[in-house]
Amino acid sequence: MAKKAAKPIKTAKAKTVKKAAVKAKPVSRPVKAAPKPAAKAAPAKKGYTKTELEHFREIILDKRKQIIEELELIHETLNDSTGGDYFEESSPYSLHMEQGTDTMEKEKNYLLAARQRKFLQYLDDAIKRIDRGVYGFCQDCGKLIDKARLEAVPHAQLCISCKLKRGQ
Ligand SMILES: [Zn+2]
Repeated sequence: MAKKAAKPIKTAKAKTVKKAAVKAKPVSRPVKAAPKPAAKAAPAKKGYTKTELEHFREIILDKRKQIIEELELIHETLNDSTGGDYFEESSPYSLHMEQGTDTMEKEKNYLLAARQRKFLQYLDDAIKRIDRGVYGFCQDCGKLIDKARLEAVPHAQLCISCKLKRGQ
């Protein structure tokens, strides 16, 4: 029994030696990088102040209200564009024309409504970003988006230069 056991021990020994040799290769291990100023390492990205964010929120809420009103108007137009007193005044010929433009008008209104709804979504997302404290940063370069740009386009997620770059 003892004789038999001797062999595996030998190989095991050889194995460990080999392993050790391999392990020993990277001799000059750098003694861990110089201690970084951990406290300063990850400064929170400086965004807009609370006051500024509330200012943007107001702009967004204003736009939101405006769009909702427009949407209601569009829906009203879509709902009652079936009839119309003005038909009576039209000659048969222009009546035909009126119906044509009416359909086109309707289609235009549908498109407009769809666009406004999308816009509403963008504004809602912007409000969410304000709530999460990530509002105002460019999605591409991470820099703060110009205040003037945000005031004009409060749901913007790209700075001007990145927007131009993407547009190409
Ligand atoms: Zn950018």
